[in-house]
Amino acid sequence: MKLILATNNQNKLREIRKMLADTDVSVISQREAGYDFEVEENGTTFAENAEIKARAIFDAAQQKGETCMVLADDSGLAVDALNGQPGVYSHRWAGENATDADRIAKLLHELENVPDAQRGAHFACVMCLIDETGEAHLFEGRAEGVILHGARGENGFGYDPVFGYGERSFAELSADEKNAVSHRHHALMQVLEYFRK
Ligand code: IMP
Repeated sequence: MKLILATNNQNKLREIRKMLADTDVSVISQREAGYDFEVEENGTTFAENAEIKARAIFDAAQQKGETCMVLADDSGLAVDALNGQPGVYSHRWAGENATDADRIAKLLHELENVPDAQRGAHFACVMCLIDETGEAHLFEGRAEGVILHGARGENGFGYDPVFGYGERSFAELSADEKNAVSHRHHALMQVLEYFRK
């Protein structure tokens, strides 16, 4: 089964590919499939943005007369003490051209005086699968943790160094360890379950 991943985010591609490595689902990125454009994410929820991204690639494929299935991932960090921010704006929160380090610095600054008991947060991932008929299916995964007081670890990407999960940060987990417990893992397992049915 061939599936186009509607993302140009290399970190997401790497994680999703690794998680699907032992399955019979073969994925190609939108760029590999010949759709080399960025899709504007102007939705207000993870679900809306995931469907916008998947639909854009599906429609482009249809215009070329190709039949395919498309999967998109919209994800982000929701911090309890910030009423769920940055949420869908996780990527743009510190400005369009901000780096991961900028985003982390902003987060740590905003939580400077927040005590440990109030530093709860979760990562959320909504995947939108568009099947060959054009129907959209949504799947959500979450990973619960806390925001640490400083960055720890070199692995992963984005907010991983400040996301405390058990005794370690997500960036201190190996790729396989993160992929076994992450929000992306939980969403993708539901996608695979849908394929099995
Ligand atoms: P988007 O889904 O392209 O809008 O971007 C999601 C943003 O959320 C990323 O750029 C990261 O900043 C953050 N994010 C999503 N998933 C993860 C993750 O697994 N670890 C760390 N940060 C993440």
